[in-house]
Amino acid sequence: MLGTQPLRAHLDEALVRGGARVVAGRAVAIPSPHRVVLDGGGSLTARVVVDAGGHRRPLGTTDWRRPAAAEQTAHGVVVPAEVALPLVGPGEALFMDWRPDHGEDGWPTFLYGVALGDGTVLLEETSLARRPGLALDDLRRRLHARLARHGVAVPDGARVERVRFPVDTPRHDRDGVLGFGAAAPLVHPATGFSVATALVLAPRVAGALAAALAEGDDGADAAARVDRTVLWTPAARAVHALRRRGLEALLRMPARDVPAFFDTFLALPDRHRRAYLGARDDLGATLAAMTALFGRSGWPLRGRLVGPALLPAAPARDPEAGDDRAPGARGRRYRR
Ligand SMILES: Cc1cc2nc3c(=O)[nH]c(=O)nc-3n(C[C@H](O)[C@H](O)[C@H](O)COP(=O)(O)OP(=O)(O)OC[C@H]3O[C@@H](n4cnc5c(N)ncnc54)[C@H](O)[C@@H]3O)c2cc1C
Repeated sequence: MLGTQPLRAHLDEALVRGGARVVAGRAVAIPSPHRVVLDGGGSLTARVVVDAGGHRRPLGTTDWRRPAAAEQTAHGVVVPAEVALPLVGPGEALFMDWRPDHGEDGWPTFLYGVALGDGTVLLEETSLARRPGLALDDLRRRLHARLARHGVAVPDGARVERVRFPVDTPRHDRDGVLGFGAAAPLVHPATGFSVATALVLAPRVAGALAAALAEGDDGADAAARVDRTVLWTPAARAVHALRRRGLEALLRMPARDVPAFFDTFLALPDRHRRAYLGARDDLGATLAAMTALFGRSGWPLRGRLVGPALLPAAPARDPEAGDDRAPGARGRRYRR
């Protein structure tokens, strides 16, 4: 878990040491690719403007929330390590516990548990992706039911963590502005992960921007060039499209099939798992991982993986229904 305030302070200090001026303010408009207006009045000019404003993409042009976005949602609590012992032993972590120990039918959610290194453990009920995201109240209810079943009593006042972010935003669309981080979006559509990718790419993007400017590109050209040659190479675009199909397969998968799907994925050789999760511009490795997954799946699961590639995006579900029902359909019961 990242301490966001210390991370921010660390980055700002490094910027200042390198001669940069850090200006705190909210960008509210971008009248040209080189000028950003701040909410307190005034504006800043720059050769290159990078929108690293997260999934809300403050300098983008379109309202990507129409139709409903697919979202990852989660509700977690931080408890003393001894309280979490029935689920997370010393030196252990728990990842994707799909057992329906929350006792509810419907949309599949899993528990993970991770020690934070200070004698506490984060226990979090997660809906990997749903369109729109599963309600946080549903996740909270499931988490507490699951923990009670394992004899984990959450102390009063335990710190709570709430998660909601989209996983299928389109590409950043402001001409001459470079989208980075979740604004790009660098978010893996089928897992929601983006932080490691952003940390790996940040120095490469900065270096490529500096080189393009040194070669005489104007700022907008430099942004477009780096977008094309570093962030969204043809291979990266193709991998992203495949991952989007993976997301759609997941969104359409019946609840009862989801744990088996992850069992199959997690049993793949390490190189395939790493490729699917991390190799955002290695099309060959991604295809090899998907082929291996297909080969190890039974025929029903194969149908679930291939079918969505031929269908339009999965329809939005009822935001209020904490289950796996498409509008008008009946829910299914988990089998243990
Ligand atoms: C509780 C939680 C757990 C998560 N766990 C993981 C995980 O394990 N792994 C993972 O990869 N991802 C995880 N995510 C998702 C991850 O946090 C985000 O995808 C990631 O933070 C995106 O990074 P970013 O820097 O692009 O955007 P953000 O972290 O959203 O940062 C955007 C910054 O821009 C600023 N900003 C926004 N608008 C403006 C504006 N108009 N003007 C000026 N500044 C602005 C914001 O204040 C913020 O500082 C988690 C998210 C949550 C909420």
